[in-house]
Amino acid sequence: MRVVELEGVTKRYPGGVTALRGVDLAIDRGELTAIVGPSGSGKSTLLHMIGTLDRPTGGRVRIAGHEVAELDDRQLSALRARHIGFVFQSFHLADGVSALDNVADGLLYSGVPLRERRRRAAEALERVGLGARAGHRPHQLSGGERQRVAVARAVVGEPDLLLADEPTGNLDTAAGGEVLRLLGALHDAGTTVVIITHDRDVAAWTPRRVGMRDGTVVADERAEEVTAR
Ligand code: ADP
Repeated sequence: MRVVELEGVTKRYPGGVTALRGVDLAIDRGELTAIVGPSGSGKSTLLHMIGTLDRPTGGRVRIAGHEVAELDDRQLSALRARHIGFVFQSFHLADGVSALDNVADGLLYSGVPLRERRRRAAEALERVGLGARAGHRPHQLSGGERQRVAVARAVVGEPDLLLADEPTGNLDTAAGGEVLRLLGALHDAGTTVVIITHDRDVAAWTPRRVGMRDGTVVADERAEEVTAR
C-alpha cells in the first residue's frame, strides 16, 4: 500500500516564491527514504505537504489513502494524529514537563485516557532505551536523549508514517548515530520513515534517496544493498 502519493504538487508561497514545481512522489508502506538537496531546494516545503501541515497550491496529495484536498482543517488534524509522527531538528519538547509526559502528549488527540497515555509512553521510552529517564525533564537530558524522547513521542501512537526533519542536525556524530540506529530499528519493525537531510552520510545510509533541486525531484535512487548502520 502507498502511504504517500503526490501528483504534480506545486507550492507557491504568498509573496511569490514557488517552492515546489510539479512534484510526483510515491512512497510505499515500510520504506526508509531520505529526501536530500541543497538549502532552499524545497525539502521542508515537501515535508510540510507530506505531513499535511500545509496545503499545495496545485496537484494532489494523498496520505494513507486520504485525499488531503477533501478534508477540512479539523479532519486533517485527526489524520495527522492517527497516521503521522513528526521529529524535528530542534526536538520541540515541552520544557517543564517530564520525558514521560512529553511522550504521553503524543497521544493527546487520540482520545486515550491519561493513565493509558502514560502507560504507553513508558513503553515507548523503554523502546528508545530511556525507560530509566522517564522522570527527567528535557534540560536534564543530553541532546541525543532529547531526540530519542522526541522519537518516542512521534511513534507512541504507532503512526503509519514517521517524518523526520534534519533529526541529527543538532547532534554530534555519536548521538546522531544513536538516533539513526533508532530510526533504522523502527523501519525494521515496519514503520515507514522519511528523513529530510542535507547530511550526505545520513542519506548514504537509507535504502532510497530522493534528490530535490529548485523545487523539483531530480533523482530517485534505491541502494542495491543496504550497508551497515
Ligand atoms: P529547504 O528545506 O530545501 O531548505 P524550503 O522548502 O525551506 O527549502 O524552501 C524552498 C523555497 O521556498 C526557498 O526559496 C524559501 O525561501 C521559500 N520558502 C519557504 N518557506 C516559505 C514561506 N513560509 N514563505 C515564503 N517563502 C518560503
